[in-house]
Amino acid sequence: MNAQGSLPFPPLPAAPALAAGGPRCGGPLASRGPISFLELAVGDLLNRATSPRLPFAWTINPYRGCEMGCAYCYARYTHGFLDLPGWREFETRIFVKRGAAAALRRQLRRRVLQGQPIAIGTVTDPYQPAESRFRVTRSLLELFATASGLHLAITTKSPLVLRDLDLLAELDRRHHVEVSFSFTTLDPRLARSLEPHAPAPRARLAAVERLAAAGLAVNFFCQPLLPGFHEEEKELRPLFEAARASGARDVVASPLFLASPAKERFFAWLAEERPDLLPRYRQLYGRRARLATAAAERLLVPFRRLRLAHGFPRPIPGRA
Ligand code: SF4
Repeated sequence: MNAQGSLPFPPLPAAPALAAGGPRCGGPLASRGPISFLELAVGDLLNRATSPRLPFAWTINPYRGCEMGCAYCYARYTHGFLDLPGWREFETRIFVKRGAAAALRRQLRRRVLQGQPIAIGTVTDPYQPAESRFRVTRSLLELFATASGLHLAITTKSPLVLRDLDLLAELDRRHHVEVSFSFTTLDPRLARSLEPHAPAPRARLAAVERLAAAGLAVNFFCQPLLPGFHEEEKELRPLFEAARASGARDVVASPLFLASPAKERFFAWLAEERPDLLPRYRQLYGRRARLATAAAERLLVPFRRLRLAHGFPRPIPGRA
């Protein structure tokens, strides 16, 4: 999500207020095995999305860190702000914004959000396992249900979103709501290796079906597109076929963004699983976080062709 993709991407300096011992970093809330959950005080919950690359005006992330631990997860660099620069801490030190609803209430009162798209879960998954315990995302949706006229876009990999199906249906009457599920593969073995603690693709597909059957706009995010995995139509076609069969409205994609320390994590994964691709990735991403423009365009060609061939975006019955 960072616009500095073509530049070397240095580790972020810690923000003193957020780092351990800083005024916004609260105490431990709970732990489970190697994972600890810590409270993070919230200033403004909604952040302005300033990059012209992004299709939304505001972002909300109820958690920092995510224990699903996807090998490619670009968001690992954001733990640098918390003075936790290593890739593993992103999955084992989860920060919970328990004051998020109060912060959102303050911002809703200012009424600056009307009509502007708000994306929930741009950096970390709002329905990651912590949500079943802390219910921060749910608390925000309940608050949105007291307003109207917004455009809310939720991105997740988790069927836990179905817990809030009734609430989402109510929100969809008051606002425009979209839910996007991210998929990199339908192959359960590859998914388990790439996304070790994320729900299996089959469970995500079932959730897409239920949300679409409830009349919600549901998208497939083929995200990230990975050189060597998503270059040929035969590698992408199963995702498009599954998207059609499950009632998805659209399929979108973006190429891998790989800033440190995600780069170290993903290169280690490649060394283990696909050592044949490692030299190529070193060449493509060794000195940059995004693919060069020409390489990104090449990667997107078969994706765009299939999107058209499968008739996406599709209309949703009963909507203009
Ligand atoms: S689910 Fe999303 S936020 Fe969580 S580790 Fe995977 S890519 Fe990162």
